[in-house]
Amino acid sequence: MTLVVTEAIVLHAFDYLESSRIVRLLTRDAGVRSALARGARASRRRFGSALDLFAQGSAELHSKPGRELDTLGAFDATRHRAGLGTHLERFAGAGAIAELALRFGHDAADAGLFDAVARALDELAAAPGDRARDCTLAAGWRILLELGVAPTIDACAECHSAVAVDVPAMFSHPAGGTLCARCAHLARGGRTLPGEARAALRDWLGGESHAIADRQQARAHQRLLREFVREHLADDRPLRAFDAWEHDTLSGASSPEPVA
Ligand SMILES: [Zn+2]
Repeated sequence: MTLVVTEAIVLHAFDYLESSRIVRLLTRDAGVRSALARGARASRRRFGSALDLFAQGSAELHSKPGRELDTLGAFDATRHRAGLGTHLERFAGAGAIAELALRFGHDAADAGLFDAVARALDELAAAPGDRARDCTLAAGWRILLELGVAPTIDACAECHSAVAVDVPAMFSHPAGGTLCARCAHLARGGRTLPGEARAALRDWLGGESHAIADRQQARAHQRLLREFVREHLADDRPLRAFDAWEHDTLSGASSPEPVA
């Protein structure tokens, strides 16, 4: 039995048997871990509200070689991010972020991914409701950047030549971003991104915010992010939380349920 004490964020939680819960955690020092929280359901004394979705704190994980499920000895939450549970768009966005982290994360330390997800959830918890969508978009692209799969915006993804800023340009998911006019001509498909859409991607990947007031534009951005995520995932299992965020199909904002 190995003991790891590490900072962790609860990204998914579901009931297990009569008295326990299983949580999926993104940890700073051990990557994505699944852990059994014995008695978490039967008694609030054991873990209190510490295991609420998107809470962050210090986790005590007991693991055995060859076993995928750790045992959670303790979880001392220091951040609860209550703002995520009080607004549907914030909650749906947080679910999409959690799903990205769980689908791309591995069971190995990745402090960069951990910090990107923690920052994303902090910003989203504090975001006004009408900014939750672009806040989530920004976070999604930054997480991809942290994972090393961000698209090119101002250089051609094929030939690396500069592509003029503020003009429409072809964007190819398989190529990995923007294409110059010559490479776009040779490409078999792609989407033409307006200059404004490229500006938003540039800001988000640069760590800045970029408001998208227009609902149609926001939806086009959600579709673009989803297509790019799909291109880089190793399997084609559904992205349930991402879909719920993109298509506004989540309900029950006042009573957060496990997503992903
Ligand atoms: Zn090119």
